[in-house]
Amino acid sequence: MSETVNIEGAYCASPLPHSEQIVMGHGAGGRMSHQLIQKAFVSAFQNPALQAGDDAAMLQPVPGIQLSISTDAHVVTPLFFPGGDIGKLAVCGTVNDVAMLGAKPFYLTAGFILEEGLSMSTLQQVITSMQAAAQEANVQIVAGDTKVVQKGKADGLYITTAGVGIIPIGTNISGTQAKPGDVIILSGSIGDHGIAVLGARGELGFESTIQSDVAPLNHLIEAMINASHNIHVLRDPTRGGLATTLNEIATQSNVGIMLDEKTLPVHTEVASACEMLGFDPLYIANEGKLVAFVSREDVDAVLKAMKSTRYGEDAVIVGEVTAEPRGRVLLKTSLGSTRIVDMLAGEMLPRIC
Ligand code: MG
Repeated sequence: MSETVNIEGAYCASPLPHSEQIVMGHGAGGRMSHQLIQKAFVSAFQNPALQAGDDAAMLQPVPGIQLSISTDAHVVTPLFFPGGDIGKLAVCGTVNDVAMLGAKPFYLTAGFILEEGLSMSTLQQVITSMQAAAQEANVQIVAGDTKVVQKGKADGLYITTAGVGIIPIGTNISGTQAKPGDVIILSGSIGDHGIAVLGARGELGFESTIQSDVAPLNHLIEAMINASHNIHVLRDPTRGGLATTLNEIATQSNVGIMLDEKTLPVHTEVASACEMLGFDPLYIANEGKLVAFVSREDVDAVLKAMKSTRYGEDAVIVGEVTAEPRGRVLLKTSLGSTRIVDMLAGEMLPRIC
């Protein structure tokens, strides 16, 4: 449930019809996921932290302390892919969601669902990878749980992580804070993770060198926050891709977004894979990228800070926030026309995270 819920908008409606069943599209991170989250979970558990609709919840348990809390379940298949594995994904996914409120993440917990027959060496490899990712992010995995299910009742290994971090007082970064005039910065190329996982499944039809971008972004975010007090929104465009993430923010903040297609960084191999498979890189998942909405006067300072870090060196300006059309994302194409970029509608690439 850590992915965004939109409280104002199009997806609040009637309760869940009992005849309906869960389909793969409910897990794709697009419109169907939002409808499920809204109808099944938010309406049942309603509280302000959940309803804010960010990837982490902002909590103030006592005066003077602001916490960022998030949780994420990981079911990627295969367990290992170029550039990462389920363990690295499980650590980075939660570290990043916690950090996107401007928080410094400190602690994670991890729950493992293991299938009977999983080899010990596979489990050890995943744990070693989690250890390395936690060390890089400078977080500790302080509690966990292990369950085993019978052979055939799971697919090797699932991992759920939860994380907590502290938001510096005075920081107010949220998907609700985008303002007309804000400049939108993207930290690097899009589509790498989704295409790398497809490649690992042998579904590309050609040998590829594309690596997943999975990475902890908390040090990048810290550098950005040190450079500017005028960062309004931070979010990682994971499932549903950049298109879905920007639609969430446009709805949450009730603003328009204008993207410039020719500025969008896409690796050649990702572009060719997308063209061949009929995908749009705007909808492909990333696991080590972020978008930042920044006041125009601070853009240079933020870009400079980003470029000085490992995961922000390819940062570019990709668009801006407009007053109208509210709740909409538009794309100025390389041909000079303008088209609407909608949220991901159904299922695209199942089990990529
Ligand atoms: Mg996120």
